[in-house]
Amino acid sequence: MKVQAVDRHFGSPDRKRMVHLSFRQMLELKVFGYAQIFTRTKQGWRHPVPFYVVECKDHGYFIDYAHGYRRYFTCPLCRDRQKREMVAVKKAVG
Ligand SMILES: [Zn+2]
Repeated sequence: MKVQAVDRHFGSPDRKRMVHLSFRQMLELKVFGYAQIFTRTKQGWRHPVPFYVVECKDHGYFIDYAHGYRRYFTCPLCRDRQKREMVAVKKAVG
């Protein structure tokens, strides 16, 4: 099975990556909202870490690793929207 996912880690910022999922991964994605797809070392990192395809309720799928102690994921498109909202709030507040 294939899904299109936003990939800001390895792909160009505005392109979606085609991710091939096994039946098991598709099931995990549906049940948990994320599924591990590969392990990679990002530039500047010492060790490879697992990456996941994650479902955003607003934007569909994106690729991310688990952040921080609480191991959360951040949708890049939600993050963009939050940044825009912050700018708008700052302008309004002055
Ligand atoms: Zn989102």
